[in-house]
Amino acid sequence: MQTATRTIGHFINGEASTTPGRTADVWNPATGEKSADVVLADAATVDAAVTAAWNAFPAWSQMPPHRRAQVLFAFRDRVVANVDALARIITSEHGKTLDDARGEVQRGLEVVEFSCGIAHLLKGEFSAGVGRDIDSWSERQPLGVCAGVTPFNFPAMVPMWMFPVALACGNTFVLKPSERDPSLSLELAAMLKASGLPDGAFNVVNGDAEAVDALLVSERVAAVSFVGSTRVARHVFALATEGGKRVQALGGAKNHLVVMPDAPLDDAVESIVGAAYGSAGERCMAISVVVAVGNETADALVDGISQRLATLRIGPGDQAGVEMGPLVTREHRDRVASYIETGVSEGARLVVDGRALSGRPGFFLGASLLDNVTPSMRVYREEIFGPVLSIVRVESLEKALMLVNEHEYGNGASIFTRDGSAARYFDRNVAAGMVGINVPIPVPMAFHSFGGWKHSLFGDHYVHGTEGVRFYTRLKTTTARWSSTQQASSPFSMPTMK
Ligand code: NAD
Repeated sequence: MQTATRTIGHFINGEASTTPGRTADVWNPATGEKSADVVLADAATVDAAVTAAWNAFPAWSQMPPHRRAQVLFAFRDRVVANVDALARIITSEHGKTLDDARGEVQRGLEVVEFSCGIAHLLKGEFSAGVGRDIDSWSERQPLGVCAGVTPFNFPAMVPMWMFPVALACGNTFVLKPSERDPSLSLELAAMLKASGLPDGAFNVVNGDAEAVDALLVSERVAAVSFVGSTRVARHVFALATEGGKRVQALGGAKNHLVVMPDAPLDDAVESIVGAAYGSAGERCMAISVVVAVGNETADALVDGISQRLATLRIGPGDQAGVEMGPLVTREHRDRVASYIETGVSEGARLVVDGRALSGRPGFFLGASLLDNVTPSMRVYREEIFGPVLSIVRVESLEKALMLVNEHEYGNGASIFTRDGSAARYFDRNVAAGMVGINVPIPVPMAFHSFGGWKHSLFGDHYVHGTEGVRFYTRLKTTTARWSSTQQASSPFSMPTMK
């Protein structure tokens, strides 16, 4: 007897719902089996979600900020109590290890905790007596309905970069998560409702490009936060800004780690293996290029990394002791694997070949290491987004810096060294939004802001922290005149030179 396939729908106006029409397959990457159908929203469904958010905005935006924060405090406690259950959902659709899944929920929680204190950042500025009987003040007000469009690789953390800040600032929200791991957002929506969030203030529409475009052209959507590939980030930025929306569109990455000859190499090897192959390289801050300064440094790193990869434990993400799980889909695994051949045909030296693993059930690909990669190769220029690490050899820090700065992407860049002046020189001159010094993955804490340079971000505001609050609010400056009771009122006129 055939069992019915689970259907994953939407969460609109406080209710779970599905709609007839197109669907996509959702997979368990560790087994290679289909686990569900996800409903793909059409424009009418997106409009229903936007309308719910639009109707919820007046009451939610007028609620005192500390009362909004109480909802987020309750949400935070619910997420803390359910971290393991949420991590299991992530692992079952994304494939990453349970430790990685718990880690991303934790990073998302830090943004919720930051958002609980946002009232402090909405207070504004006040100037008394800027003219006779005149005071002036500025405050930050919410925008209205905000939309979030998120990638597959962090189904908890990336949405949580966005909606806690947006909601705390008084906006309402429509989230369009990745259709590849759509379940987690629905859990978060149910938890927000159970924490006292009014219906309509947070909605989830599952879908693909059709749903995204409907959000981008909706006249009721004031702002769009996007995280995903650079190709789609450009499209989102162009279409949404054409309609006058505020947009932050975070794109792809190719993060370089420069290793100086004086760096402690054992530590560097362990850090590189975690940063390059953790979460199967499907992290926007993964290290995908190691720039080794000097051939001795390069030889030692290649030896150390290949020895460590021989013991890397690869398997289903929910099994104890596993360090690297499968990739998200068969297509993505095959695309990543094809880069290994591309690298070899371009003249790189394949030191470790992960392709043997792709015969297993599930979307597995082992860790691969390419040495002698050069800047003209596709494996260097393009984002691979999988467990393939390139080593580029250079003679000096200046050459290393030039390489990083000439690359199309500028998300993160790190240096490993014992030399403070080399580190300082790198930090001052590198063209990247997030810099690590002896830290391989320099992801900012929630009270700082996350974002890259160059083609890694389109827009003016980064996510979360103070930048996130600026993104989700607009400034209003009021000039007010109240005559003092003791003095006769004087006629008001615009400031003149007299
Ligand atoms: P993606 O660009 O394929 O998809 C992202 C979102 O856009 C999804 O919700 C998807 O449904 C939607 N989408 C896809 N094609 C579209 C189209 N033609 N028109 C409109 N919407 C469309 O990205 P992905 O594969 O899910 O995620 C991986 C990418 O995300 C990588 O490039 C990675 O570097 C990037 N990423 C960047 C950051 C960052 O902070 N810069 C963080 C995480 C992921």
